[in-house]
Amino acid sequence: MAKLIGATASPRINPRPDYGPALPVLAKGIWRIIQLPLLYTCLAKLLSPSYAAVHVAVLRSSATAAILRAVSFAPWVVADDVFFMVGLSIAVSASYILGNGFFAILDNYRLLQHYRLPRTRAQAPPASLVRRALQKEAFSHCVTGPLIMLLAAGPGLRAVGSPVAIGLLPPWATTWWQLAAQLVINETMFYFGHRMLHTEPLYLAIHKQHHSFIGTRSFAGEYAHVLEDVLTAYIPFLTGLFITGAHFHLVFVWFFIRVIGVAEGHSGYCFKNTIFDRIGLANASAAANHDFHHTRNSGNFGHPMYDWLFGTMDVYLAAGGEAGYIEMGRKANAAANAGVPSASARGPPSALLRSSPRVARQQAGQSL
Ligand SMILES: [Zn+2]
Ligand SMILES: [Zn+2]
Repeated sequence: MAKLIGATASPRINPRPDYGPALPVLAKGIWRIIQLPLLYTCLAKLLSPSYAAVHVAVLRSSATAAILRAVSFAPWVVADDVFFMVGLSIAVSASYILGNGFFAILDNYRLLQHYRLPRTRAQAPPASLVRRALQKEAFSHCVTGPLIMLLAAGPGLRAVGSPVAIGLLPPWATTWWQLAAQLVINETMFYFGHRMLHTEPLYLAIHKQHHSFIGTRSFAGEYAHVLEDVLTAYIPFLTGLFITGAHFHLVFVWFFIRVIGVAEGHSGYCFKNTIFDRIGLANASAAANHDFHHTRNSGNFGHPMYDWLFGTMDVYLAAGGEAGYIEMGRKANAAANAGVPSASARGPPSALLRSSPRVARQQAGQSL
C-alpha cells in the first residue's frame, strides 16, 4: 500500500502517482486563460450601464458628503474613493447573495443533487460553526471590507492612474487583456499564498480556521482569519488590477465574478460536462479540486494546472483525480437515492487516507 508522507505544504505519497502527459493539462489551462476573460469582458460591457447609474447616484448623493466628513481623519480620501467603496460593496454583496442564494436553494430543495460531490455524515458542519461563519462574513462585508476599500484600495488605485469616469471605459481588447493578466496573477498568488498557509506554523495560527469546514457549504469560502483574507483574497484580487491600472468598473466586475467563484468552489457541487462549465459560467475542475482539498486536506492548493505543475496533487491523483472524485460523488448520490449506505457515507473513501493519523486528526477538525 502507498504510504502518505505528510498533509503539509508539499504532500507526497510514496510511490508518487503518475501525473500524466503535460499537453492536455497545459492546453486546458491556457484555453481557460483565453476563454474566461472573454466571458468577463462580455459581462463588463453588459453591466456598464449599471456602473454609470451608481456613479451618478454616488456623485450626486448627500450621503457621499456625509461619509467624507465621517472619514475626514484620513485626508487622502476623496469622493471617488467613496464611490469605489459603495460600488464595490454593492458588487460584492450582490454576488454573495446570488452565489450563496443559488446553492442554498439547491441544498434546501434538494435540486440537482446528482451534481453533489462525496460527503460523509461526519463532514457536515455543526450549527455553531455555520452561525460563526455567517457572523464573521456579515462583519467583513459591513465593516472590514468597506474600510479596506475606502482607506486603502480606492486611493491606491487612483494613485496608479485607474480611471473612474464612465467615459473612460476601456475598449474590448484592453478589457480582455487586463482581465486575463488579472486572472493569471490572481491564480499564481493564490496558489503560492495558500500553499504557504499550509506550512505548520501558519496553518496552526491562521489557516486552520478556514479548514474548520471539512464538508464545505458555499459560504464557507469566506470563513477565514483576517490575515488570510488579506493574503489570499484582497492582495491577489487587487494586484493585477493595480499593475494594469484597470478601470474601477473592471474592479467591480472582477470582484463580482470572484465572490461567485469562491461560493462555487466551496458549494459541494460540481457541474462537470454541463453547458455552464463549457462556456466558463461554472468552473467544475476548480470546484472538485478545492472540495477535495477540504475533505482530505492534503494538496490541491489552487488552480489544477498549478497543482499539476508543482506536484501537489499526489493524493488526489492516487484517489482517481477529478474524474475519480466526481464518480465517487455520483455513486454516493445514486446509493443515497436507492437508500443504500454508500462507502462515502460510511467513512473516508480511501484506505490511503485512513493510513494517516495526521489526516484523520485534521478530518476530525483537530490541529495538525
Ligand atoms: Zn487550505
Ligand atoms: Zn477553501
